[in-house]
Amino acid sequence: MLHIYNTLSRGKVPLEPTEPGHVRMYVCGMTVYDFCHLGHARMLVSFDVVQRWLRASGYKVTYVRNITDIDDKIIRRAVETGRRLGEVTDFYIQAMHADERALGVQSPDAEPRATSHVGDMLHIIGRLEENGLAYQADNGDVNYAVRSFPGYGKLSGKSLDDLRAGERVAVDSGKRDPLDFVLWKSAKADEPPESKWESPYGLGRPGWHIECSAMSKSLLGLPLDIHGGGPDLKFPHHENEIAQTEGAFGGQLANVWMHCGPLMVDSDKMSKSLGNFRTIRETVGVGTSLSPSSANYDVNAREAEMLRFFIVRNHYRSIQNYTPDNLRDAQSALDRLYQTLHNVPAAPVHIDWAQPAAKAFRDAMDDDFNTSGAVAVLFELANEANRSGSAQTSGLLQALGAVLGLLQTDPAIYLQSPSRFTGAGQVAESLDANAIEGLIQARAEAKKQKQFAQADAIREQLRQAGIELEDKPGGTQWRRV
Ligand SMILES: [Zn+2]
Repeated sequence: MLHIYNTLSRGKVPLEPTEPGHVRMYVCGMTVYDFCHLGHARMLVSFDVVQRWLRASGYKVTYVRNITDIDDKIIRRAVETGRRLGEVTDFYIQAMHADERALGVQSPDAEPRATSHVGDMLHIIGRLEENGLAYQADNGDVNYAVRSFPGYGKLSGKSLDDLRAGERVAVDSGKRDPLDFVLWKSAKADEPPESKWESPYGLGRPGWHIECSAMSKSLLGLPLDIHGGGPDLKFPHHENEIAQTEGAFGGQLANVWMHCGPLMVDSDKMSKSLGNFRTIRETVGVGTSLSPSSANYDVNAREAEMLRFFIVRNHYRSIQNYTPDNLRDAQSALDRLYQTLHNVPAAPVHIDWAQPAAKAFRDAMDDDFNTSGAVAVLFELANEANRSGSAQTSGLLQALGAVLGLLQTDPAIYLQSPSRFTGAGQVAESLDANAIEGLIQARAEAKKQKQFAQADAIREQLRQAGIELEDKPGGTQWRRV
């Protein structure tokens, strides 16, 4: 049985969907005003693995991941670039979808946009007002009265006093308590007209937190079986979602709360000010296809799968450190699996979960999505396939890889793709496929002419560029190492 670490209860709990056999999962998605970064990659891949494993376990899954398409940052980006809000958000949604495709992330069942649910948000705000949990301040904003909700702090495990320490009320905010947060922002004169909605509180727009309370309830109903998100959302975003939904409707917002861990770059938190901020596209895209004005780009399949593998081989709750050494290590580990599939071509296999390796894989995944344990099983299978030459074992390796969204590229194509994380060094300095084929032909010609020294010299030249040759009955094959 699948057990999941529940942030709310601080321990592993069995997954018991409200509707047996059907898991309703909501994950907080992107605010679409910029390209997705590596922290987003970790969140996208982690919850993709969760939904894949739920489906592989036989559950029906309804996976909803929202899009925040109204926000201060979006308004700022639109004003700065002279575009309409919808142009900005459509562009970054397209770019996000390109990133998901690159990383092998399957589309959620629904991607609601906040701007399509403003009515639902106003409905919740109305109920909160009736329940004495919301008030309109002098500046027109409607705020949540945190001190009136007894459960506030239960997710982050902090008391109101802990949370309040260090907080100060901005003089003009109209808040009664420093922790009170905005449900409805009153419109400012200089904001674009498409950022304003009519409401009983005057012209304005929703705060960020209320969006998720509205979309999760309207698409999935309460309580959610799983609510997930990135590590920085626990407080205040998810604490506020609980206060809103439970304050308005009673009961519980979600039975299980899942948070993936942070992704650090060279042991530091990723930030634009530290200069270690990396987008997904600049990590896995082909340089010449990257343009800030284009949402789509060409993907280096080998590096993209390496990034996914790098994320998947770590447990989703761990702190993950993105460093050149760790990436090189991930690349050579993934290469080993592909080399096995290349050496021992896989037979199509239907997974028998009673088979010992498959069972070990399942036990690992059922233990709070322990992908590190599951990946260890893949390496055991690779060793066995290399030893025995069994196409069935190789087939099981590929089939279990598919459950994690890995190992689905043709091994020959994968091994011929360039990677900046292999011994050959920078992609830019290595040979392209045409040049390699040309040299292989020249070498074959030299051999035919019995100019063996020259043939060997070409082989050595390729070897130094990170290309290994293998002479087979049908001709010479090559791969990058
Ligand atoms: Zn949210």
